[in-house]
Amino acid sequence: MEFIDLKSQYQASRALINGRIQAVLDHGQYIMGPEVGELEARLAQFAGARHCITVASGTEALLIALMALGVGRGDEVITTPFTFIATAEAIVLLGATPVFVDIDPVTCNLAPALIEEKITARTRAIIPVSLYGQPADMDEINGIAVRHGLAVIEDAAQSFGATYRGRQSCNLSGVGCTSFFPSKPLGCYGDGGALFTSDDELAKAMREIRVHGQSKRYVHTRIGVGGRMDTLQCAIVLAKLELFDWELQQRQRAASAYDALLLGKDMGVRPVGRRDDRTSVYAQYTVVVEQRDALQAALHRAGIPTAIHYPVPIHRQPAYASPGGADACPVAVEMAGKVMSLPMGPYLSTASAQHVATVLLDAADISRRSSVEPVALPE
Ligand SMILES: *Cc1c(COP(=O)(O)O)cnc(C)c1O
Repeated sequence: MEFIDLKSQYQASRALINGRIQAVLDHGQYIMGPEVGELEARLAQFAGARHCITVASGTEALLIALMALGVGRGDEVITTPFTFIATAEAIVLLGATPVFVDIDPVTCNLAPALIEEKITARTRAIIPVSLYGQPADMDEINGIAVRHGLAVIEDAAQSFGATYRGRQSCNLSGVGCTSFFPSKPLGCYGDGGALFTSDDELAKAMREIRVHGQSKRYVHTRIGVGGRMDTLQCAIVLAKLELFDWELQQRQRAASAYDALLLGKDMGVRPVGRRDDRTSVYAQYTVVVEQRDALQAALHRAGIPTAIHYPVPIHRQPAYASPGGADACPVAVEMAGKVMSLPMGPYLSTASAQHVATVLLDAADISRRSSVEPVALPE
């Protein structure tokens, strides 16, 4: 069994993908070819945002968004420590300081109630992450941002295709960033990403920053980066978009198969919570477990791959030690010791999901029994 089955996905879209790749090879415009604009128009329409700007990766999207907002030295940006490193990395690369706010123990997303106490005169932006494919509490976060004059960048690297109160992830705040890393819900076959906004000025700035800050050829009106997504990768995403709605349904089906066996069981295994005003695209199907090492080993012995997203919260990473120290964000620390992601994807069969869930519950049952102290019998 594969953790994410990209080969079956390719087989399902093979003719479309091959055709799109061949078209690029034939026209030969490998950088900023016609597929780039075509993809941007399709994605903007999908998300409901006025602008989509494709970029070299999800990491680059975060960096360019922060650059366009003018975040730099001395500024603070509020974010979650329970995310992939790129979220905080983009902040630090610009000389700004990430200020970590703890997460909600149910969803593992940024806890809005804890944000305001961390806002200072230097705070410029908030970056919530829509973790595992489920949008963060965006309305609450946007409300706080409006009160304090801050920007909100949704790190939607894992959540393209998810919805929140009827709107699409990536279009839930001033700027949305996503990634087309191969294993993300909408992936390419290399690196790629995109920015979304309905703010014309910001879109212009992000477009220019993407190509070395050029407003016209060899006219550099701002400091930029080499941040383009290449035409071949855009062509691959265009092909994959044809099956994307169907794949989202299949992700939901696989998640429901897990849910049917894992939800509401008092076995020391609980799926990360979902809220009913939003949908997840299940970039990961993640459970919170006791005795993770034992369960992971049992699944491994049964040939079932698992992954930990993420084993160390960023404020405990050597390069990111924060002013609050290692004791900050206790919920993130606890979850980092308990989460485990199971095989997931549109091509995971219902029978496979049931098998994984059954092996997991059996292992949880055994490890719970063996952890119960034997009762001392009276003489
Ligand atoms: C994958 C990911 C990124 C980075 O995307 P890349 O395309 O790999 O650079 C950023 N943030 C989160 C939450 C991610 O999962």
